[in-house]
Amino acid sequence: MPLVEPSLLEILACPACHAPLREEAAEAELVCTSDTCGLAYPVRDEIPVLLVDEARRPA
Ligand SMILES: [Zn+2]
Repeated sequence: MPLVEPSLLEILACPACHAPLREEAAEAELVCTSDTCGLAYPVRDEIPVLLVDEARRPA
């Protein structure tokens, strides 16, 4: 079961750099696909929280 609807994921973009996002189901996160950004946004109750303040920085 996807974290978010594929049609929704398609129109979402990273709020920090506007790159597309990919789903990281194991972590329940949407991860920015930009190599230089790479922020990971949490998905809570099937709602993606696309806030830079809530995002996890890549290690
Ligand atoms: Zn980004």
